[in-house]
Amino acid sequence: DAIISLRDVSQTYRVKKRGSFAGTSALRAVRNVTFDIVKGDSFAVVGESGCGKSTLMRLLSRLERPSGGSVLCEGRDIAGLSGAELLGFRRKLQLVLQDPFNSLPPRTGIGAMLEAPLRTHGWRDPRKIREKVRAVMDDVGLPVSLYDDLPLGLSAGQRQRVNVARAMVLDPEILLMDETLSALDQTEQFKLLALFDKLQRAHGLTYIYISHDLAMVRKACNRIAVMYLGEVVELADNDRLFFDP
Ligand code: ADP
Ligand code: ADP
Repeated sequence: DAIISLRDVSQTYRVKKRGSFAGTSALRAVRNVTFDIVKGDSFAVVGESGCGKSTLMRLLSRLERPSGGSVLCEGRDIAGLSGAELLGFRRKLQLVLQDPFNSLPPRTGIGAMLEAPLRTHGWRDPRKIREKVRAVMDDVGLPVSLYDDLPLGLSAGQRQRVNVARAMVLDPEILLMDETLSALDQTEQFKLLALFDKLQRAHGLTYIYISHDLAMVRKACNRIAVMYLGEVVELADNDRLFFDP
């Protein structure tokens, strides 16, 4: 059964009319998107730049609410979540963003960076926090000896592992990966895909990959939604996908 469902989801932005000082017009970045993501899926949303992927990412993570339709998590409309429920949803669905060079605070040690989300979510015992962070570092293939290091000296692949660890430390059920592998070379991409595979088996995770890279997505995902100009133009199991640019 579905862990995430989109029902006729649209997102409209007001934009300034070209060549006009006063007028605005409506831009429909996402149009009537409907799909189900099943627990344990590696689900991909793929398409060219401008097709609405980032907008969909913001809708899935409730950074924005849709102007039409609904996004459901285990049957609940996430637009209505607040307070503790929203914190619960943010723990359940974790974002892993693209660029590890920009998204890691440069002056925070790696261990401290991974401790922060635990504190936000109410962990208090310093010994338990350290223990959890070490376990997660080990899980994602980061040497625990890097605990007190700054991200400065890390390779791109290691930085992306820190990003993944920051998401994993809260024991999420869903990882929403927005161009997570796009900044990495092929060898690192393969290594991380192998890691994601391992983590998925160990923790029963559901993955949502947002990507422009169809070749990568076809290696990683069992189900693929192809977007074009805001619409899902194809939705199929990987081995049945017709779309081929
Ligand atoms: P992608 O991530 O696939 O490149 P986006 O979701 O960023 O696509 O953009 C889809 C369309 O919506 C584009 O035409 C973009 O200019 C527009 N858009 C995205 N976000 C906004 C916004 N906050 N305000 C106005 N227009 C936006
Ligand atoms: P806060 O409680 O202030 O949101 P967080 O530690 O949750 O503090 O987040 C700090 C910053 O890091 C925010 O800008 C957030 O968007 C970003 N962030 C949080 N978790 C992740 C993650 N798993 N992957 C990438 N960025 C994240």
